[in-house]
Amino acid sequence: MPSQPENCLFCRLVAEGDHVRAADGFVAIRDINPIAETHLLVLPARHVDTFREIDAFPDEEAGRMLRFVADTASAAGLDDYKVLVNVGERGGQTVFHLHWHVLGGRFDVGKLSRALELETA
Ligand code: AMP
Ligand code: ZN
Repeated sequence: MPSQPENCLFCRLVAEGDHVRAADGFVAIRDINPIAETHLLVLPARHVDTFREIDAFPDEEAGRMLRFVADTASAAGLDDYKVLVNVGERGGQTVFHLHWHVLGGRFDVGKLSRALELETA
């Protein structure tokens, strides 16, 4: 179920979490259950439920969000990495505040395959 900002975990972490980086209305935090050696989450400070609502961001802000994702990866020392957004429950989303997974280094293959488990026809 989509969360409202007042009971949203990631709104709380934006306000009082341990930020790896913060700038320009975006923060990066460490994932609490990493599936790779480096597993960061980029969150917009402003609550938007899912990537489906990308139109909530003006083009300029959406562009800054992408740049923040790329800068977070390079600040973490990553050249080669994955960026993942789970969209909706059936897309594997569990926290309904838009976030970008930045994954690099060695992967936990078991956790990765569970994370990518998809609904099949
Ligand atoms: P998703 O499944 O795409 O919605 O991703 C949610 C992510 O948030 C998962 O990878 C969780 O491990 C992570 N997560 C849940 N609670 C916390 C927390 N308190 N701090 C950091 N990451 C969290
Ligand atoms: Zn939120």
